[in-house]
Amino acid sequence: MASLNWSYQGNNGPDQWHKLYPIANGNHQSPINIKTKEVKKDPSLGHLRSPGIRAPAKRLSMLDHSFHVNFEDKDNRSVVTGGPLTGNYRLHQFHFHWGQTDDHGSEHTVDGEKYASEFHLVHWNSDKYSSFAEASDKPDGLSIIAVFLKVGPPNEHVQDIVKAVGSIKTKGKKAPFTNFDPSTLLPGSLDYWTYSGSLTHPPLFESVTWII
Ligand SMILES: [Zn+2]
Repeated sequence: MASLNWSYQGNNGPDQWHKLYPIANGNHQSPINIKTKEVKKDPSLGHLRSPGIRAPAKRLSMLDHSFHVNFEDKDNRSVVTGGPLTGNYRLHQFHFHWGQTDDHGSEHTVDGEKYASEFHLVHWNSDKYSSFAEASDKPDGLSIIAVFLKVGPPNEHVQDIVKAVGSIKTKGKKAPFTNFDPSTLLPGSLDYWTYSGSLTHPPLFESVTWII
């Protein structure tokens, strides 16, 4: 699957993805625009719970389109549960989306508004499946926590990542990246919007419970 060429621009850009990945025309594709007037409160949804991120980050990898920080995910040391989720979802990886300029970069929008960046914490259903790969195409396989970032005063936790990305540019495609707790990037309030959607890039599986 990785050999199928896709990109964010031109001949292989998002409006062409459906040729290689027909699910691009599916009914549960992400990202979406959240219309706050149409959002419904569901009293059955409880608080999100995370006992903390206790598994170590492993490494930071540069990809063509972005960079990822992967986590040790052989056990349930770093899970999120509660909210719309049934059971434990284990942290696998995090990454960011951003744009060329500060007025866009987020994938989701809120009442049409774009944010400078969007942070994605990717989890998989470790109660039901044995690996991220196995979970990734199942309807209840994945959950991604998304956080919008605005431009503001320097944030020391973001600076740690910026530094690591800078070192990769000079040293190759991967660098060790440990002792980083991504929960430091979560906002004070864990109120959220949730919906059932998909991966936002090929293979576009409709397997993601989004928590935004
Ligand atoms: Zn993402």
